[in-house]
Amino acid sequence: MKVTLLGTGSPLPSPTCAGPSSLVQAGGQNIVVDAGRGVIMRMVAAGCPPAFLSAVLLTHLHSDHICDLNDIITTRWISLPAAVPLDVYGPKGTKKMVDGLVDMLTLDEGYRLDHHEDLRAGIGMKVNVIEVEAGDAFEIGDVRISVHRTDHRPVAPTVGFRFEHEGVVAALAGDTVPCAELDEMCRNADFYVQTVIREDLVRQFAALVPTGARFLDILDYHSTVQQAAQTAARAGVRTLVLTHFVPAIQPGQEAEWHAMAAEHFGGEIVIGPDLTSVEK
Ligand SMILES: [Zn+2]
Ligand SMILES: [Zn+2]
Repeated sequence: MKVTLLGTGSPLPSPTCAGPSSLVQAGGQNIVVDAGRGVIMRMVAAGCPPAFLSAVLLTHLHSDHICDLNDIITTRWISLPAAVPLDVYGPKGTKKMVDGLVDMLTLDEGYRLDHHEDLRAGIGMKVNVIEVEAGDAFEIGDVRISVHRTDHRPVAPTVGFRFEHEGVVAALAGDTVPCAELDEMCRNADFYVQTVIREDLVRQFAALVPTGARFLDILDYHSTVQQAAQTAARAGVRTLVLTHFVPAIQPGQEAEWHAMAAEHFGGEIVIGPDLTSVEK
């Protein structure tokens, strides 16, 4: 199993970090978790163009995690030799969001159908939405995936995904504060991917900008670097993979982030940049 951080960014625009998205590859499947800014560019860089995609899984419907899903839908459709519906798994609300996206893309779909006879012979740009909730489990090929509740309130429902294939386990959490369900999802995982923020830097930044109060709001529904490391230690994971850096890691700052996590977790700690991968 290989897990690649396609984008390690956040809602804050960054010249170097794409938005939050990860690629899980196992058993010949290519599964994208979340579809943030620039996801297609990073998929191609990771050697997984959209036509090779097996499914998209969404942890929640915050804009930074879904804003380029429309690009996946369109680009995958027009690059497949024969149209196959794209499977999108996500929490309740995913259907409504995807219906809106598909509606937005209707004019473009029409232009392409008018222009390409072979596309006209197919089923069109179809998305198959599967809304999931905590406790669900499903398979993509022979990769088994279970769905777990996370805590990103007031955003709800939000979920994380535990992948298992040939004895290797990866837990991809999305945005959440520590909670018992998260610990359970990560239990003895080989890889635990957690979106994180730096509380100290967020507080410093908030003091400098007119929208500071908004920045302080984000502190109560994300894991800090330290909390992610504490979750990893409690759950007995082998490798902690940090992503979704708020704020973006500046060149030369990696060791500082690493040290903050290492205070609480004795296992392997992996930190971006985009396209960093772990494999077992
Ligand atoms: Zn986020
Ligand atoms: Zn979020």
